[in-house]
Amino acid sequence: MSAEDHRDMKLKCSTCGKELLQNDLGKKWRRCHFCEEPICFNDTHYLGVRVKGLYNDYLDVVPVCKKCYPKGL
Ligand SMILES: [Zn+2]
Ligand SMILES: [Zn+2]
Repeated sequence: MSAEDHRDMKLKCSTCGKELLQNDLGKKWRRCHFCEEPICFNDTHYLGVRVKGLYNDYLDVVPVCKKCYPKGL
């Protein structure tokens, strides 16, 4: 109930609810490529997406959360 409560947004893994620290971005968690929700490494899925390049389309691998990961893969 102090003025500090809203100073920084509470970060939580959108899948398991574990608390995450801004400083650990890239070390312990990522943001989902599609919905941009924070996800801890335990819950990170990787998905190959086709990206438009300068000359050719190429395949990139992006982190996605459980919700955005296509089912059946
Ligand atoms: Zn998690
Ligand atoms: Zn997502």
